[in-house]
Amino acid sequence: MDDLLSGWLARLANFNHCDLVDILAHVGSEGRYVGVLDFGLEDSVARRIAAVTRTNFELVHSLTLPAATPLEAALTAQFPFQKCPVCSVRGVALKHWRRAWAFDCLMCGAQLNPTMPRPDIVKPSTKILRRARIGARLLKAAVKGNNARQIHRAMRGVAFAMAVTRFRGSSLAALQGFSPEVRITCLEAICTVQKKPLFKAARIMAKVDGTAKASLPKGHLDF
Ligand SMILES: [Zn+2]
Repeated sequence: MDDLLSGWLARLANFNHCDLVDILAHVGSEGRYVGVLDFGLEDSVARRIAAVTRTNFELVHSLTLPAATPLEAALTAQFPFQKCPVCSVRGVALKHWRRAWAFDCLMCGAQLNPTMPRPDIVKPSTKILRRARIGARLLKAAVKGNNARQIHRAMRGVAFAMAVTRFRGSSLAALQGFSPEVRITCLEAICTVQKKPLFKAARIMAKVDGTAKASLPKGHLDF
């Protein structure tokens, strides 16, 4: 079941014509942001949710986000940074949307959108999106396979993209932030640095969007 606890509870509340806030209060989680329950759900709360919703403890726990490795956990956003424009209309919130490598909705295939879109954002070209989609797939394979070499390579791409976009923050934040420009550039770079030396990768990216021109290797990035 790919349903995320927060979305499942929201739909349940909707179905029963009550407020999600009331359900949270009922299970002793009043005042908490519902998305927090998707991670680190205490057994006591899970038991109360199971009782209130007439399901079982195992099912409630299965709606939270497990992480196989520390990196997988780090690349799973605590807050919903993207959502499916189609499925979210129906109140659905799915687990995989929180993963840094999620690009398209696995339920309907639509491209995921940032949850806080900026009105001035320029839509990336099809070429950039194609590469970003490949980058996302490579990141997923690296993390899921716990492959140190692939992870290292992917993160080199991210470091490069951060320099290009002048993003100040961690690579984890760049990959799961609200800025599609930074995120898409990171994913695109993961794809581009796979087989090319950095200066070639920079040139390819510069050719497409013009943003990397100013950031061609200056020697301080050790790729
Ligand atoms: Zn969808």
